[in-house]
Amino acid sequence: MKITDLKSAVIGTNVCLRVVTDKGIDGYAQVEEHKEFVNTTVPYYRDMIVGCDPTNVEGVMRRIRRLGAFKPWGKVVSSIEMALWDIAGKEAGVPVYKLLGGKVRDKVRVYCTLYSPEKLPYPQAKNAKERGENILALNEMAGFTIVKTPTAFHTPEFRRLAEEEGFAYNSYPVQPPVQYMENANGSMLTDKGLNYLIDYVHTIKEVVGDKVGIAFDCGPGLTAMDALKFAKGVEDCNVMWLEDLVTGDYTPYSLAQVYRDITNNTITNIHTGEQVYLRQNYRELIETQAVNVIGPDPADVGGIAELKWIAEYANLHGIMMAPHGVFDGVFGMAALTQVSCTMPQNYIAYEYPEGHPEWWYDIVEGLPDGFFKDGHVTVWDRPGIGVEFNVNKAEKYLRPEDKDFFR
Ligand SMILES: [Mg+2]
Repeated sequence: MKITDLKSAVIGTNVCLRVVTDKGIDGYAQVEEHKEFVNTTVPYYRDMIVGCDPTNVEGVMRRIRRLGAFKPWGKVVSSIEMALWDIAGKEAGVPVYKLLGGKVRDKVRVYCTLYSPEKLPYPQAKNAKERGENILALNEMAGFTIVKTPTAFHTPEFRRLAEEEGFAYNSYPVQPPVQYMENANGSMLTDKGLNYLIDYVHTIKEVVGDKVGIAFDCGPGLTAMDALKFAKGVEDCNVMWLEDLVTGDYTPYSLAQVYRDITNNTITNIHTGEQVYLRQNYRELIETQAVNVIGPDPADVGGIAELKWIAEYANLHGIMMAPHGVFDGVFGMAALTQVSCTMPQNYIAYEYPEGHPEWWYDIVEGLPDGFFKDGHVTVWDRPGIGVEFNVNKAEKYLRPEDKDFFR
């Protein structure tokens, strides 16, 4: 079997990749956002992989792995990897998890960041109490046992307060399309800003109690000492983790030594790593036990085999796994399920991506009824990554410029 083409298309809010072969077996994957970025880089990668046998996944990856980097530059490489596994599984007639070493759990816990906000009691929740009510609703609606809430510089509200209410010493507005993470990155907090964060977590904990595990996505954007004061200030709340206190999202580095100082001085779990590309760039975070939880995204870190390797290595060092994935779409959800069911006991939960808009679930086949229930995804058996386009139904959602995607 040989790869004959690599194509991309925008379907709904997702960018999709298709690896085409001469045997009529296709591999699919989704890419986190950045439509223009994907469309312009796909031809570059296509020339590197056409003619290769896609079932030799590692052989193909060695041709393109050096052509990626920290988020967003590893996206296309990572998604090609997942599409290759899809083909390899279909060719072998087995689910991809069997090629990754086999499953050790029949269902995988997932956690919630974004989930049908229109169905929440407070779709535009502005304060901690409303956020807390939303968390309880997510537990009742979909059974989520862990919910992650944005806070600190990760929220527009805090960024506004930083500028207007003096929450930070060095905050300034950044005009779109520049990433908001650049806003006040590393700015020192005032008393007001720090107290707001500590109160915010306590208020949510008071509303939620012990019904749902709570995690917080925090930035990046705090100084090392503010991060430590925040972590120590919420120690009595037993949060699942504080994410990206210092670096993360689109910072092309991870500052392991700064995280290590914070982690060593608090009993609050510290989490980072969604932007990191490749196992080599996880080495310092893991070997120095710089954080308690890591969150590689298969669509940024280099793919699912890369994620599996990192999970095993983290487990050797007492570090837990909570993979990132909220923008990875239905194919990303399937890929996360395939790899998460193979991870060792350090697995906590992956960040559950929904299909957007809802018609996404009508244009794919393979998802069994009730696959998502009570905050868990039941691992299903189907060759490859586990979902497939219904081409007849999906075609009508293609943009005119993508009309050849399935042809
Ligand atoms: Mg995050």
